[in-house]
Amino acid sequence: MSRFTSTPFDPDRSSGGTVSYGRISAPGVDTTHGAILYLDGITVSFDGFKALNNLSLDIGVGELRCIIGPNGAGKTTMMDVITGKTRPTSGTAFFGQNIDLALLNEAQIADAGIGRKFQRPTVFEAHSVFDNLMLAMKANKGVRRTLFARLGTEHIDRIAQTLQTIRLTHEAARPAGRLSHGQKQWLEIGMLLMQEPQLLLLDEPVAGMTDAETARTGELLNELRGKHSMVVVEHDMDFVTQIAGTGKVTVLHEGGVLAEGSMRHVQSDARVIEVYLGR
Ligand code: ADP
Ligand code: MG
Repeated sequence: MSRFTSTPFDPDRSSGGTVSYGRISAPGVDTTHGAILYLDGITVSFDGFKALNNLSLDIGVGELRCIIGPNGAGKTTMMDVITGKTRPTSGTAFFGQNIDLALLNEAQIADAGIGRKFQRPTVFEAHSVFDNLMLAMKANKGVRRTLFARLGTEHIDRIAQTLQTIRLTHEAARPAGRLSHGQKQWLEIGMLLMQEPQLLLLDEPVAGMTDAETARTGELLNELRGKHSMVVVEHDMDFVTQIAGTGKVTVLHEGGVLAEGSMRHVQSDARVIEVYLGR
């Protein structure tokens, strides 16, 4: 996907850094109607080719939504639209009922509470695991206001709690560059969590992981269920089954929703089997 991009800074390709630049204040998100994200009739055309074609999708508050579908279905483009990296040709994207994402730039969208994990981890390799989490916390504007040179116990506790969540307590002092691929992915999830996002977008979080790491990532996401709203794009069907539970799975195909429902429902859908699962 990044081979098409023309933006000067592409976090997917950079070797260091994370979404910690230029946070600008944004209004609070209004979720009184129960949804955190509304995509309505989103179309993205690249020279006439529709990567997204009239895509409509709502994500509930606290929901863990899995998105599956064949390569080229538009899954990453959907995340690019939500995060402001790609602007839709038509359609609307709202964060809660009140925040029109078309009016915000990428930094403002991150600041409003949408955190994204890219396919490739982008941790600060020379810094310790602990410091990576601390730096991510400092990038959170709410925390930055109260955070001075010295960390308060409240901040240390939050880092300790996140270390436990991401299973890296015993690696806290290790340079991030020395972690395994899977551990780096967890660290990046932890860095996102330190920014307290209300909506977390994860694009292929278990790609390249061992089976054991994949299973632990599933446990981790299950623990976050209900605390954050999450959209998870994945190809690994065992993993999707593990985290979908009885929740909704959306199948994208040719830029639109092909099927939506429980894992059992979409797995038995003849069109889903035809374009995706059966191959
Ligand atoms: P997925 O993540 O589901 O595999 P993508 O969202 O990456 O799919 O891509 C959807 C389609 O849009 C693909 O055919 C891809 O080649 C195309 N595409 C994505 N980004 C661009 C772009 N910037 N310019 C042209 N075509 C693009
Ligand atoms: Mg993709």
